[in-house]
Amino acid sequence: MSLLPAATRGVGLTSQRTRDRMVSRLRERGVRDERVLAAMSEVPRHLFVDEGFASRAYEDAALPIGFEQTISQPLVIARMLETVRAGRDLERVLEVGTGCGYQAAVLSHIATQVYSIERIAALLEIARTNLRPLRIPNLRLAYGDGYKGLLEAAPFDAIVVAAAAPEMPVELTRQLAPGGRLIVPVGLEEQRLILIERRDRGLVETVLEPVRFVPMRIGKR
Ligand code: SAH
Repeated sequence: MSLLPAATRGVGLTSQRTRDRMVSRLRERGVRDERVLAAMSEVPRHLFVDEGFASRAYEDAALPIGFEQTISQPLVIARMLETVRAGRDLERVLEVGTGCGYQAAVLSHIATQVYSIERIAALLEIARTNLRPLRIPNLRLAYGDGYKGLLEAAPFDAIVVAAAAPEMPVELTRQLAPGGRLIVPVGLEEQRLILIERRDRGLVETVLEPVRFVPMRIGKR
């Protein structure tokens, strides 16, 4: 039984069955973190895309959300969250690049408290509208430049960046708690996911797979 009201539950191409199929495909592609998979089976992704795209919401594709931005591909989100969680219980998490709010909603199922920051005010409003019917108590949205992180809520056990930074956003590494993990796409034409871990002896960097994200930009809009 879904706890969502009928209007948000969706039928046919936006139903729980469709969502479960998406999760099966993520499993087939190697995603193992049951907590992440459960969260993605829970969050109604079709509520975060324009109505015209709702029937494609569960395809493994990035879709337009306006303002030249996209909702990230489910497989990429799953891999990033699995990597940044690393089997830990997460207390505080920061997302940079709220966009339509989808990943923030997924994060709210796998962490105690989630903060998400967005630089485009109009998109943040759209995210608020998308998230309202889901009544998520442990998610705070902030308007600002994610390059600066969110000092007032730091330190974070995990930081997930949803836009590609030309260079490593150093301030974000400073806002990691001990043992904390940051995952961020870095690069211009050629982007790669980079994982940064804060260990006792300092920061450890691991270069992961190539990806394709919209660019991270400086300042608010
Ligand atoms: N998290 C979204 C994807 C958002 S796309 C999802 O669930 O699908 C990337 C977002 O990052 C865009 O909304 C873009 O405006 C935002 N962004 C880019 N640079 C930023 C910055 N410096 N600070 C905050 N947000 C930024």
